[in-house]
Amino acid sequence: MKKLFLIIGAPGSGKTTDAELIAKRNSDKIVHYSTGELLRQEVAKGTPLGATIASYIDQGKLVPLEIVMDTIRNAILNSDKDIILIDGFPRSVEQMKALEKMLEENPDIKLEAVIEVVVSEETAKERVLGRARGADDNEEVFNNRMKLYLEPLPEIEKYYEQKGLLKKINGERSIEEIVEEMEKFILEKAGA
Ligand code: AMP
Repeated sequence: MKKLFLIIGAPGSGKTTDAELIAKRNSDKIVHYSTGELLRQEVAKGTPLGATIASYIDQGKLVPLEIVMDTIRNAILNSDKDIILIDGFPRSVEQMKALEKMLEENPDIKLEAVIEVVVSEETAKERVLGRARGADDNEEVFNNRMKLYLEPLPEIEKYYEQKGLLKKINGERSIEEIVEEMEKFILEKAGA
């Protein structure tokens, strides 16, 4: 049985860093994928698919549903660990519904929780504009990404809250504190 944990949060919430650290500290049983990084890896390959993906990422737009679902499905199916952390997904209501369908088709994958790393818009903006990772880290693109993140959030929160799967974590603390709380939650939930 594969135990899936989804980690969502605004751009700059620290979700990728948190999940990466937790996977590193538990590398015998936990694997982590960042949706954004998986997509950027495809871009780096220089394939036609990568070029299509880049045209969305560079504008801070959501990559089309089918490409994202293929990316997520491949990551889960190729993982050799039982506990899988995926950050940056779902980012829309249609992704959430597509995931539901995927889980129905794959009963050996269990969604254990959706962890939301909560930060204020100011904190998110300061962090993103401070890191300047690539073409998508400028103010205009940030505003776009923030808007895109916030728009479906209430529906996503409500859906997983009703299922008893939503766990909110305060992302305005030190990395150590956030990682500690998240790691404890994941290990307890997964019974590991
Ligand atoms: P991130 O690394 O999570 O900040 O994501 C960087 C960019 O990758 C986003 O602005 C989107 O263009 C794309 N991306 C990441 N996750 C998704 C997703 N779940 N659905 C669609 N596009 C995504």
